[in-house]
Parts: sequence; structure tokens; C-alpha cells
Amino acid sequence: MEAMRQAVERARAAFKSGRCRSLEFRIQQLKALERMVHEREKEILGAIEADLHKCGHNAYSHEILGVLGELALAMAKLPSWAAPQAVKRNLLTLRDEAYICAEPLGVVLIIGAWNYPFVLVMQPLIGAIAAGNAVVVKPSEISEHTAQLIADLLPQYIDPELYPVVTGGVPETTELLTQRFDHILYTGNSVVGKIVMAAAAKHLTPVTLELGGKSPCYIDKDCDLAVACRRITWGKYMNCGQTCIAPDYILCEPSIQDKVVENIKRTLQEFYGEDVKKSPDYERIINKRHFRRVLALLEGQKIAHGGEADEASCFIAPTILTNVSPEAKVMEEEIFGPVLPIVTVKSVDEAIEFINRREKPLALYVFSNNKKLIKRVISETSSGGVTANDVIMHFFLATLPFGGVGNSGMGAYHGQHSFETFSHRRSCLIKDLKMDGANKLRYPPSSQKKVDWAKFFLLKRFNKGRVGLIVLALLGVVAAVVIKNRQPVLKRKALSILLAVQRLGWLSMC
Ligand code: NAD
Repeated sequence: MEAMRQAVERARAAFKSGRCRSLEFRIQQLKALERMVHEREKEILGAIEADLHKCGHNAYSHEILGVLGELALAMAKLPSWAAPQAVKRNLLTLRDEAYICAEPLGVVLIIGAWNYPFVLVMQPLIGAIAAGNAVVVKPSEISEHTAQLIADLLPQYIDPELYPVVTGGVPETTELLTQRFDHILYTGNSVVGKIVMAAAAKHLTPVTLELGGKSPCYIDKDCDLAVACRRITWGKYMNCGQTCIAPDYILCEPSIQDKVVENIKRTLQEFYGEDVKKSPDYERIINKRHFRRVLALLEGQKIAHGGEADEASCFIAPTILTNVSPEAKVMEEEIFGPVLPIVTVKSVDEAIEFINRREKPLALYVFSNNKKLIKRVISETSSGGVTANDVIMHFFLATLPFGGVGNSGMGAYHGQHSFETFSHRRSCLIKDLKMDGANKLRYPPSSQKKVDWAKFFLLKRFNKGRVGLIVLALLGVVAAVVIKNRQPVLKRKALSILLAVQRLGWLSMC
């Protein structure tokens, strides 16, 4: 436990040394990570296989590709992400410099989950490094091989003081959470999410919570069922259903339920062959605890396909349940396994109502030829993200923020959104010490006139472009002089200019 406290202290001291401030340093660390992924690819794939029984091709496309893509993007875009952003000014700040500057938060804690054990740690790590932070990395102990490999590899490639790895389970994470961090990104279930947030609150530490939930999938009858079911089968059964944004259950009208089952069955055969157990593309449940939990969800259900299981190897066949009651146990909690319940609804209205009666999900899927129906489902529901006519794919578009809402999480990351999550957007206004006359408006003694001028400067919105702005700036100068000198002639002139401008319709109330 002492070792953990020291790791956090060392990371803070390294952050305070200022060496991760420069963009060159950050890019050099990202390059080192890229080199690590290339040089140690076999070991990474081996660890993922040992944890999840995942073949090399799938481990590469599910985990390594995403990390390499995120690294390439961060290295190419970092200078533009980190550049100060000039902002619009008002009449009182026309002569000043106003911009937003992204600065690192400090020491960030990243807690990963086991289901994609490499990418779920590396992807936020890339964003946190790019933003210039020190990062304490805590991989999930459940995917023990990948956790150990991350702990072995990172210190060989990137600054070990700035980016320490802490391994261990609940006691270690509990201890780690007593330390002070400047941001925590946690990936995992909502119950632990609340523990993380409560611990963070003690230090007023902001959190990003990447949680889960039951992601619904509505299939409209006006839809190419063969294509829809192929895409759903891919997203549901990849990683043996242990994907946070896998479609959790299907909602469809009773008239198409059997066709949905037939199409999914046909696709399963296409994907995994006659004997799914022998398929190199089909993974296993992570451990016996989760195996028993998933199997218990089948009790009392009508199994339309699958249901076979083998505890010794944590195998559960791709399973479809039909005519599932909304009150069934399988509809209470996130399934996180290869079981797909179908709940029938009379119409899209009932589907929307069904979704809205439950917690806001991490993802929502809708399949239809009817774009209007898709847009309606999107506008009348809420979820972390949506993909229409496909599943999972919004995760892979780095320009979209990835995260939940309500019970499925808070905050988001990926690409530039990661950089923003791990940065403080600092407001910077640089004035000079000249023209103090204009400031008399805000200095005591106060008067109704000063309030009237302040209202004019702050509440008016000008919408006539550059020329108009120059006119208004001149007006500001005149006003400043008037207030300074209190000369009745000038004051009259200023007011008449103002009236003329207003008459021309150049100003409008905001
Ligand atoms: P897990 O068991 O690996 O736990 C995640 C982390 O929390 C681990 O590092 C673990 O050490 C820590 N932890 C566990 N119990 C703790 C406690 N009592 N106190 C402090 N820390 C504790 O993963 P999990 O929770 O089983 O993950 C599955 C869940 O994660 C699912 O709900 C899934 O939908 C969700 N998930 C979400 C995303 C996302 O990006 N939104 C990604 C993957 C998984």
C-alpha cells in the first residue's frame, strides 16, 4: 500500500518538474508507445488470448488497431489541439487578447476493465499523455495476463516516474482511491462507479465514468432483415457478448420475431461454423463467476437457439431467447454475455416508451429503411451514443465523443475528446495598462449614467460585420472621453452618434 502512495507522489513530483509540459516530450512518449505496440505485438496478443481465449486476428482488430489509430491521430493533431483558441470579444475587450489555453490537469488515474484489457487502458492513456499529464495506470486484475504485461512493458518504453502502473484488485484500488488525483477515468460497472465517484468527491476530483447498461436494439419491420441480423450477430457475439456497447436485447414486432431468429441462426453458422466451440473466432466468458451469472439468466426462459454451456472452459454458446417478458431477470441487469433476448412490442411508440422507462443506456440501435423513423427514435430517447442500421460502429469514429449518460456514465473520450477531457480549458484575457478612462464606467462612485453606458456596452449585440464594429469601437472611445471629461458638448455629440447608429438599424437588442 505504501508503494502505491509513493508511486502517486513520484508521479506528482515528476509532473511538477514540468518535463511533460512541452509538446515535443509528449509526442516522444506517444512515439515510444507506438514502438512498444509494434515491437511487443506478439506478447500483447498472447496475453489477450490467455485472458479471453481470443485469436490473434481478433485481438489485433479489437484492441491493437484502435490503439495504433489513436496514437497516429494524437501525434498528428496534438499541435493543433494544444494551440491557444482565440475567442470573440465584446465592446469592452475589443483591444485585448482573449483566448482559451488547454493546460494539463496534473496527475490522472486511469482504471481499466477486463473485457478489452489493453485498449481500455491504452486509449485513455494516450489522451492523458497528449494533454501533458502524469498518469497512474490501474489495469483490471480480472484480465491478469494483460495487466501484468502492461505493468512490465510501460516502464520499459515511457517515463516510469510520470506514468507508473499499479496492479492488484479491490484492496489496492481502494487504497489508490484514497490518494489525491486531478482527474479519474474509470471504466467498469455502475456499482463501482459510485464508489469511485464518492472517493473522488473527497478531493473534489472530477471523474469520467465509462459504465455500461442495457443497450436496446429496435428492428423496424421495414428493414432488410438479413443485413440487420448479420450486423447484430457480429456486435452481439463478438468477445462472447462481453462488450459494453453490444446490443443487449432486441425489440421488434411479433410478426418479424421468427424471421429475426432465423436470420441470426443462419449468420451464426456462417460466422462460427457447425461447431461454435471449435471456432477460433468465438471467445470464452472471462471467469467462472461471470459464467454462472450469465447462465443463471437463462432460467425459465424460452431458448430459441443455443443454451449449451461448459463450465470447465467457461463456454456459453450463442443463445437467443424469444417472447421474453420485460419483467424477466434477464431484462433487469446488463447481460454482458452471449445471450440475446427478444422482447416483442406492438409498434415503434411502444419501443420508445419501453426504452424511456429504463435507465439511459450506453448505446442505442435502430434498424429501419425509414430515415424519419430513425430520427424520431433518436429525438425521443436518450443514450450515450447511437448507431442506426449497424451496431458498435460509433465507437470507431474518433471524431465522436465516446461515453455514457445518466446510469451509463458521464464524460467522454476518444481522439480530440480525450485531449479535452484531460485538459483544463483556461480562460486568458490579456489587457494593457492604457486607456484607463474607459474603465471609469466600473469604478466608484456609481451613477445611473454609468449603468446606462454599461448596459449599452454589455447588452447590445452588433450584427453588421467589421465596419460596424469599428464604428462601435469609435463610439466607445467617445463615450470614454465623455465620461472622463464630463463635457456637455462632447456628451451631446456622442449621444447623437449613438442615436444615428440606432436609427440606421445597425444595433439590435440581444
Ligand atoms: P472489473 O471487474 O475489471 O472492474 C473494473 C475496475 O474496477 C478494476 O480495475 C477493479 O480493480 C476495480 N474495482 C472493482 N471493484 C472495486 C471496488 N469495490 N472498489 C474499487 N475498485 C474496484 O470490470 P467490470 O466492472 O466487471 O466491467 C464490466 C462493466 O464495465 C460492464 O458493465 C461494462 O458494460 C462496463 N464497461 C464499460 C465500458 C465503457 O467504455 N463504457 C467499457 C468496458 C466495460
